[in-house]
Amino acid sequence: MAGTLTFTMIKPDAVSKNYTGAILQQICEAGFRIVAMKQLHLSAAKAGEFYAVHKERPFYGELVEFMSSGHIVAAILEKENAVESFRKLIGATNPANAEEGTIRKRFAESLGKNAIHGSDSDENAAIEGNFFFSGLERF
Ligand code: GDP
Repeated sequence: MAGTLTFTMIKPDAVSKNYTGAILQQICEAGFRIVAMKQLHLSAAKAGEFYAVHKERPFYGELVEFMSSGHIVAAILEKENAVESFRKLIGATNPANAEEGTIRKRFAESLGKNAIHGSDSDENAAIEGNFFFSGLERF
């Protein structure tokens, strides 16, 4: 059975353009409940750790530099079938290929600076949520 939790980050491009409120509004209107949330600035080391699965990819350095370039907003979200439902809401990795009305289509500027992260599996949602939040920070 599909899980009810996913993990997201509003990325530095979107936070710096002051899109945080509009993106959170779209997430809440889509029926997600915020279980945990905080704004923070990742160090390059922490961003590298988070994206360690992409270590061998040619864009890893650029990704780590970008994700540590400014504030992010990290959150754990709850909804039935959360991972798949949220991936649909955010749209394709490259905003040029994202469906109309999706968060990436509305707010992202490029394949690298694509406004928002969404976990790709229940297992990764749990790992990523645990990376940022303790049990005391979830409600
Ligand atoms: P996602 O699951 O849709 O976020 O996509 P991936 O897991 O494939 O990639 C992780 C993140 O790496 C993406 O959200 C982008 O921010 C970034 N990324 C992916 N491909 C590229 C690329 O070709 N160039 C750059 N600069 N960043 C990329």
